[in-house]
Amino acid sequence: MDAQVIIVGGGPAGAWLAYQLARMGVETLVLEKHALPRYKACGGALSLKAVNCLKAKDVWPHIPIDREISDFEFAYSRYSPIPFQYHGPPIRLVQRSQFDHALLHLASAAGARLIQCRVHQVSRGNRVMMVETNRGTFRAHYVVGADGAGSIVARSFKLNPGISFSAFQAEVPVDEYPGLAERFKDKIFLQWGRLPNGYGWVFPKRTGLSVGLGSRSSGPVLWGAFTSFLTELGVDWKRIEVHGHRIPVGGRLVVSGERFLLLGDAAYLAEPFTGEGIYYALRSAELAASCLVKGRIGRYSSLLRDEIYPELNWAMKMEQLFGRWPALFHHLVKRNPDIIEHFFAFIHGQASFHSFYRNILPQLINIRGS
Ligand SMILES: Cc1cc2nc3c(=O)[nH]c(=O)nc-3n(C[C@H](O)[C@H](O)[C@H](O)COP(=O)(O)OP(=O)(O)OC[C@H]3O[C@@H](n4cnc5c(N)ncnc54)[C@H](O)[C@@H]3O)c2cc1C
Repeated sequence: MDAQVIIVGGGPAGAWLAYQLARMGVETLVLEKHALPRYKACGGALSLKAVNCLKAKDVWPHIPIDREISDFEFAYSRYSPIPFQYHGPPIRLVQRSQFDHALLHLASAAGARLIQCRVHQVSRGNRVMMVETNRGTFRAHYVVGADGAGSIVARSFKLNPGISFSAFQAEVPVDEYPGLAERFKDKIFLQWGRLPNGYGWVFPKRTGLSVGLGSRSSGPVLWGAFTSFLTELGVDWKRIEVHGHRIPVGGRLVVSGERFLLLGDAAYLAEPFTGEGIYYALRSAELAASCLVKGRIGRYSSLLRDEIYPELNWAMKMEQLFGRWPALFHHLVKRNPDIIEHFFAFIHGQASFHSFYRNILPQLINIRGS
């Protein structure tokens, strides 16, 4: 046996699980196909609930926070934008290459082993799981798929995919676009209405601006909308590298089986309204760690169903509602920007998405009638 637990994928989900398990004395092996640090298309925005996972005193000092942002601009198409300063906890921005690297470093410092290799197939043997890679076969009692949207672990067990949104993102260097850098220096810009569902973003990092667009649409429609977003910002998209990636949302129907389970994007755990996935990657790793240590991985899916799936379902309803009438919501919010405080409460995990339907939606509709 090479380890008690093999984790396929060294992103936030895999690294955070490896850290938890290694600290509890579980022999853990992470198999990651890329040499880290590596680029991952991601805005790198951390909500308070993600930060709270990492706030332990031996972890937080090692987390490379790039910026802390409290100023926002919400735009709908070419209508006048809504500026907003949030007085609660800021949104922390990270560079995913550094963030993922730091988490993996913590895992290996805690005792997890890391091997750089590409996993081709996972299969169940007699009381053992076999993981075939380009560097030979590894064996363990349990295998965890933390291998992102295209999970080879999920495909090995022929699990049906769930719902995916798509996104493009580019890193725009600040020194080449000083005017743009000045405009977005200290604020997060979010724009709806470029496509029926989804939104565009500009996140300011120290070395550049992460500019992206995510949507239910994909292919040429999304590409056309993204390049026109960049052009409108004054960026020559032909001169920068653009990365495309899926955002698997809403949760998979099956997330575990005999001696395997799936975390983060491999389990389709990104939240559909904002596309936030880092928190869900970290939190699913924590739930998985408690199940693996007790040898009760059958409980993992019920923990997800109790804690995470209801929120993802409500967020999906919100996404459908906003996606259907973005102009209407923009005008309603513009008439009462204080309502944005409530959005931050959802995002930071201080209020449930469910409460939007119960409390905020009726308020918005009243505002319209007033
Ligand atoms: C454009 C974009 C912007 C986003 N912005 C945000 C944001 O601002 N905030 C937020 O919270 N979320 C954001 N997300 C979502 C977030 O990026 C993901 O939810 C998060 O990365 C999930 O982490 P993970 O560890 O599950 O998967 P990943 O980060 O995808 O990590 C999977 C790892 O597995 C490895 N791997 C894959 N296949 C194999 C294999 N066969 N063998 C070995 N290794 C393998 C990969 O190399 C990778 O390192 C964004 C997503 C996109 C696409």
